[in-house]
Amino acid sequence: MITLAEKLAEVNYRIAQAARRSGRDRDEITLIGVTKTVGREAVAEAFREGLRDFGENRVPDAEAKFNPLPYPENAARLHLIGHLQTNKAKRAVALADLVHSVDSVRLAQVLSRHAAELGKTLPVLLEVNVAGEESKHGLSPAEVPGVLAEVIGLPNLEWRGLMTVAPYFEDPAHTRPVFAALRELLERHHPGLPAWRDLSMGMTNDFEIAIEEGATLVRVGRAIFS
Ligand SMILES: *Cc1c(COP(=O)(O)O)cnc(C)c1O
Repeated sequence: MITLAEKLAEVNYRIAQAARRSGRDRDEITLIGVTKTVGREAVAEAFREGLRDFGENRVPDAEAKFNPLPYPENAARLHLIGHLQTNKAKRAVALADLVHSVDSVRLAQVLSRHAAELGKTLPVLLEVNVAGEESKHGLSPAEVPGVLAEVIGLPNLEWRGLMTVAPYFEDPAHTRPVFAALRELLERHHPGLPAWRDLSMGMTNDFEIAIEEGATLVRVGRAIFS
C-alpha cells in the first residue's frame, strides 16, 4: 500500500521536475490538494505531511471539513474551486482564502458585497472555459476583457488571475494549447493590478504540462487522495 505521505512526496517531486524542465522556480508553484473525495481525517493527515493548500468544490462540503479548521488557525489555506451559486456566496466569503471560480459579473458583485460586510478582502480568479465545452462553467475567452473591465473596480475583491478546467484527454499533451491559451489571456488582458499573476490550471492528469505552460496553482486530487 502506498501511503498518503508517499503520494504527496511523489507529486511534489513531479512538480519540482516540471519546474526544472521549464526553467521555473519551484516556489512559484503552489500545490493545492483537492479533498472533495476525502474527509477531515485525510485533510489533517495531509497537513501533518506538509500540505498547506486545500481545495474543495462545494461550500457545504468545505464547511463540513474546514469549519472548524482541521489544522491551526492561519496555518493553511482553503481554496474554493467549484461552481459557486450566488446564494452560497456569503458562506464562501466567510470560509475561503481564494475563490477560483468567479464566472459572472453578478457573482463578483455579490462576493464583493459580502466581503465588505465581513470586513475582508477576498482574493479571486476568473474562471475561463477555454475549450468551450458545453458541460463546463466559465467565461468564454472573448468575454474576459469585458467582464474584467466591469469587475476590477469592485471593492473588497483582489483579482489574482485566471483559472481553467481543461478537457480530459487520454494523452495529456493535448491539453497544452488550452493552458497556453489561458496564459496568453492573462498576459494580454493585464489590468495593471499588482496581484494579477496567477494561473490556476492542471489536475492529476495534466499538472506537469500545466506547469510547463506557466501554472502557478495546480489542483491535484486523485494523485494524492486515492
Ligand atoms: C476534482 C477537481 C480537481 C482535481 O481533480 P483530480 O483529477 O482528482 O486531480 C481539480 N479542479 C477541479 C475544479 C475539480 O473539480
